[in-house]
Amino acid sequence: MNFADLGLSDELLKSVEAAGYTVPTPIQAQAIPSVLMMRDIIGIAQTGTGKTAGFVLPMIDILAHGRRRARMPRSLILEPTRELAAQVAENFEKYGTNHDLKMALLIGGVQMGDQIKALDEGVDVLIATPGRLMDLFERGKILLTGCDLLVIDEADRMLDMGFIPDIETICTKLPAQRQTLLFSATMPPPIKKLADKFLSNPKSIEV
Ligand code: AMP
Repeated sequence: MNFADLGLSDELLKSVEAAGYTVPTPIQAQAIPSVLMMRDIIGIAQTGTGKTAGFVLPMIDILAHGRRRARMPRSLILEPTRELAAQVAENFEKYGTNHDLKMALLIGGVQMGDQIKALDEGVDVLIATPGRLMDLFERGKILLTGCDLLVIDEADRMLDMGFIPDIETICTKLPAQRQTLLFSATMPPPIKKLADKFLSNPKSIEV
């Protein structure tokens, strides 16, 4: 399997080459074509499998085609910790250098002022921890009705940290017609239930 066989644009293939990757990892080989075909996905994969590029690369291609609207982010990635959220943001910067995508990192421990300013200007990708996202939402600073691509990353860690009720609330604020990607290292019953409730005909990928 080759990166060129996965359906990514030439610009993304250049980013992959610049990153020094020659062969897609198993999760990438399975996830990238399905994400590009707008399918929902349940990816059972640990950190270190290359899963981040597995969703960031096709997301960049999807977001590169479409229009930005003020105060209406087009996609949302939920991460359990500030560190993971920052890592995903770094991935977007690394692979998205050829694309003019606007990103906002909504994590705790950072002043809200700059985050609100970024939201007002229009954002393609929100990368957030559930607590800060809920806080901004409750203050009326975010509209999620334009967010038709959702990633719930590290779902089992979200469960351990008590974030599932927040995630359920967030899911109900997004349009029902959307693409949802859920990644988790394990599939305990509450995560299976979350997936049953909020994903539609998902493709399961286990690596
Ligand atoms: P992740 O599982 O997303 O945290 O990625 C783990 C590490 O694998 C990161 O440092 C990536 O830069 C690296 N990586 C991702 N995809 C590939 C690939 N296809 N070939 C080699 N390294 C990769």
